[in-house]
Amino acid sequence: MKNYIIFGAPGAGKGTQADLLAKKYELIHLSSGAILRHEAGRGELGKKIKSYQDKGGLVPDRLIIAMMEKQIGRTLKKGLILDGYPRTLQQARALDRFLKIKKAKIDSVLNLRLSQTEALKRLILRGKTSGRSDDNAQTIKNRFAVYRLQTAPLLDYYKKQKKLINIDGRPKIAVIFKDISERL
Ligand code: AMP
Repeated sequence: MKNYIIFGAPGAGKGTQADLLAKKYELIHLSSGAILRHEAGRGELGKKIKSYQDKGGLVPDRLIIAMMEKQIGRTLKKGLILDGYPRTLQQARALDRFLKIKKAKIDSVLNLRLSQTEALKRLILRGKTSGRSDDNAQTIKNRFAVYRLQTAPLLDYYKKQKKLINIDGRPKIAVIFKDISERL
């Protein structure tokens, strides 16, 4: 089974495309943001998670790495699409180490490319219906800054591994999906 990462700035459409891919190729869609939102608010740890998310900052590596390893370990045999993970170099290295132990690997990394202006428009629109406390102007700004500083360097990491596939994130959902499907 193949394992993929879907990559892109906040608002680029990762979740939507990951859902479609999961259906078409019978993959397990693991969204770190959704997994964290599920935990958020439950007990002391949940409160901490929610406060990171609400500010648009990243949850500490140690915590998210442990949470994701648990989920990935459970689902690895079925083929995965990782959405929102890894988001730092430390997470990417931990993922490679973990997969190696499990005798598995990431096959391709799909990078959805979209300008910040366009992504911002989409996120503000999504905020009207998503109910997500982090889809507001100030938090979105922080999420973009975090993306640029901590997450964008991963593009180079996966480019060096010859796994990076750049996808134009501007067209309609179905057009992007067709493009992705043809290139996998
Ligand atoms: P997302 O749903 O992918 O936009 O993630 C929403 C929020 O969850 C992020 O702004 C972070 O606070 C947190 N989060 C999601 N994935 C990660 C990750 N891999 N590492 C750290 N924090 C994360």
